[in-house]
Amino acid sequence: MNKLSYAPEKSTSAWSIYLQQIDRVSSYLGNLSRWIDTLRHPKRTLIVDIPLQMDNGTIKHFEGYRVQHNLSRGPGKGGIRYHPNVDLNEVMALSAWMTIKCAAVNLPYGGAKGGIRVDPFKLSENELERLTRRYTSEIGIIIGPQKDIPAPDVGTNSKVMAWMMDTYSMNQGNTVTGVVTGKPIHLGGSLGREKATGRGVFITGCEVARREKIKIQGAKIAIQGFGNVGSEVARLFDKVGAIVITIQDHTSTLYNEKGINIKELTKWQNKNKKIAGFPGAISIDKESFWKSHMDILIPAALEGQITQKRAEIVNCKLILEAANGPTYTEADDVLAKRGITVVPDVICNAGGVTVSYFEWVQDMASFFWSEIEINKRSDKIMIDAMVNVWKKAKENKCSLRTAAYIVACERILMARKDRGIYPG
Ligand code: NAD
Repeated sequence: MNKLSYAPEKSTSAWSIYLQQIDRVSSYLGNLSRWIDTLRHPKRTLIVDIPLQMDNGTIKHFEGYRVQHNLSRGPGKGGIRYHPNVDLNEVMALSAWMTIKCAAVNLPYGGAKGGIRVDPFKLSENELERLTRRYTSEIGIIIGPQKDIPAPDVGTNSKVMAWMMDTYSMNQGNTVTGVVTGKPIHLGGSLGREKATGRGVFITGCEVARREKIKIQGAKIAIQGFGNVGSEVARLFDKVGAIVITIQDHTSTLYNEKGINIKELTKWQNKNKKIAGFPGAISIDKESFWKSHMDILIPAALEGQITQKRAEIVNCKLILEAANGPTYTEADDVLAKRGITVVPDVICNAGGVTVSYFEWVQDMASFFWSEIEINKRSDKIMIDAMVNVWKKAKENKCSLRTAAYIVACERILMARKDRGIYPG
């Protein structure tokens, strides 16, 4: 999580992007398409009011959400976002993408997501803790280790998860470590969780690059976002000899044709809580980021970043969607026409939820695995899922996104069909 305030921007209609993605997959599903409407309706949405006493004694109200999009395959799973643009539309879309993602990599979960419309950087730590605890109490009626398991997302971290776990446990009367994932290691967290999403992006990216005959060593890379996910992706690609030429966060866009020194930038970021002002690169204007000459583009910030216009000018061979929902449907079409391969978010960034699943399993068993074991198991799940989606795309002559949706929708709708509708 970065510090400094996020400038409020217009919310993108993430839910409409999701619906368009669902519309595209329907014709591939045969008889199962009879059930597809279930994916157009979130199962449960909860909006909560969170009154917060500020440090100066005044009282402010914040709006919070928890959406359980689909629970056909198991408990809900999905992060908690603290950002000034959070609204119901965005949380619904993010929860739906979790449904698709968990099914695409075959984890026994449904999809959920939550958030609070707040700029976390404008609150003191005490205010943030009180906000988190009240929010957890409010959504406590629908979350639980067998019902719905939150995790960190943009603007939240392991400390927030520790407060959530403690609050839920206080209300239950016993310690329930399995109610959230992404916790600190000493509170039932899993080794490897913090880096898991970035690692998954790297693993799936390398697998597709190999199949597309794109050489990683020397490849020019552009990354939007240098938070939990973006910084780890940058570190891993840098380590194997790729050249990260441009990085953008909410404070600046850095460019260095010879490659940004990732170790130095990480030190700078840890100290300054932003990339702006880093002396090892020049600062360029925001839109130039998309025009830079690159081989691989990695959006790792927010949704709705690759618009049709940007898709027309972007100069790359491969896009790895580390962020959730970064590409508009019209942009997808432009990229396909231009022969640019997109590794969709629902596969590309699923490393995080995969290791969250491991964390939950370890909490349930009260038996913890080594980091080597975790990385080995998650790499296998990610590569198997990627290969399966790749084959589906070839079979159906469709994009990797549509293929991932076919794989996921078949699993979800099969479960829905076999469970039937209650009451009949
Ligand atoms: P984070 O809060 O750690 O970092 C977010 C980054 O995005 C920061 O560098 C921030 O400066 C940048 N950013 C914010 N607004 C921006 C803007 N308008 N323009 C450019 N950059 C901007 O968040 P994160 O955990 O790294 O998540 C990043 C993305 O990855 C999100 O879409 C999230 O949903 C997705 N994701 C995260 C995880 C995870 O495990 N953390 C898992 C799956 C998907």
